Amino acid sequence: MKNIPFGYPIILEEEKKAVLKVLDGPILTHGPTVKNFETQFSNFIGGKNSLAVASCTAGLHLAYFYLGIGPDDEVIVPAQTHTATAHAVEFCGARPVFIDSELPTGNININLIENAITDKTKAISIVHFLGIPVNMDKINDIAKKYSLFVVEDCALAIGTYFNNIHAGLHGDVGCFSFYPVKHMTTAEGGMFVTKHDNVAKMINKQRAFGVDRQVSERKIPGVYDVNMLGFNYRMSEIQAAIGVEQLKRMDNFLRKRTENFTLLENNLKSISKIEIIKSNNTDMCQSSYYCLSIILQEDLSERRVEIINKLNEHGVGTSIYYPKPVPLMTYYIQKYGFKNDMFPNASLISDSSIALPVGPHLGKEDMEYISEVFHKII
Ligand SMILES: *Cc1c(COP(=O)(O)O)cnc(C)c1O
Repeated sequence: MKNIPFGYPIILEEEKKAVLKVLDGPILTHGPTVKNFETQFSNFIGGKNSLAVASCTAGLHLAYFYLGIGPDDEVIVPAQTHTATAHAVEFCGARPVFIDSELPTGNININLIENAITDKTKAISIVHFLGIPVNMDKINDIAKKYSLFVVEDCALAIGTYFNNIHAGLHGDVGCFSFYPVKHMTTAEGGMFVTKHDNVAKMINKQRAFGVDRQVSERKIPGVYDVNMLGFNYRMSEIQAAIGVEQLKRMDNFLRKRTENFTLLENNLKSISKIEIIKSNNTDMCQSSYYCLSIILQEDLSERRVEIINKLNEHGVGTSIYYPKPVPLMTYYIQKYGFKNDMFPNASLISDSSIALPVGPHLGKEDMEYISEVFHKII
């Protein structure tokens, strides 16, 4: 029997050496390694302003904090996503307005957005679900028409392109995650990107207490002023050292994900009672292939727990993205009174899907094993 974890961080000698090198010196946070990581990240995605932060969630919070939204403001967010997408809006006291998913992509149903916009709406948050790009031309058209700020949650979208432009560079800002099971890791960490220089300048201060000048800009050491509120949402040099080495592997990571996804998809697509969550326009849309999520249909849907248990028993790791639509998480039901039937497609994904692994820790034989086991179970 094989052991195929759903996600597994690839940390090699280079990462370990880079961490030890940082630990041998005196600068452990917001120093040259963070700067280098930011530059390399900008180069990788083809952007110009990258700011390393404590997590993707911290980056999303900074985006809304920068915007200055609060009670009485609304932000459009997809119902099918990680809780962080909506929590970041809640942190500022504003209200997330949830939109159901489209199929087969699992992304926000763009056709439902305009109806949900009111004069309180300040921003649209989109998520490239499992790395599948949202049609950002359509989002930007709507944002322009109603003067809305666009926040891209790119937690699973390193390597996601729409129309040859990397995710995070279509909207006003984008936030990436380096949590261990994402496309690359720094243990915990995130990257805030923006095409606007003035936004980058503000976020640079707001991620570090609102201090008016960087250590390098201080004429007299220790002398600075604070002219705004700010958090401590910085990344450490240790994390950035891991990030720099991971970035060097990204092309390879993405190639393996693409190969694994394609293999597994080809092996599973003959099964009639499943739908594979994927892009519906492969010319414009380059996915980052976070995982291969399938929606079980008809009687298979009722057998989900049994199928997951059997896959796990055979050593195939699985997950569910995401276990409930965010508005149907207890916190949101208690606060806003959402009902179970309000987000049918998002619920279908949560209730009937199984996410299968395609990460770079796996290869061809693993994909063949997964599909063999899957066919056998069914
Ligand atoms: C994982 C994830 C996050 C949270 O990322 P952190 O770096 O752990 O804060 C946010 N949004 C989405 C869509 C995610 O998948």
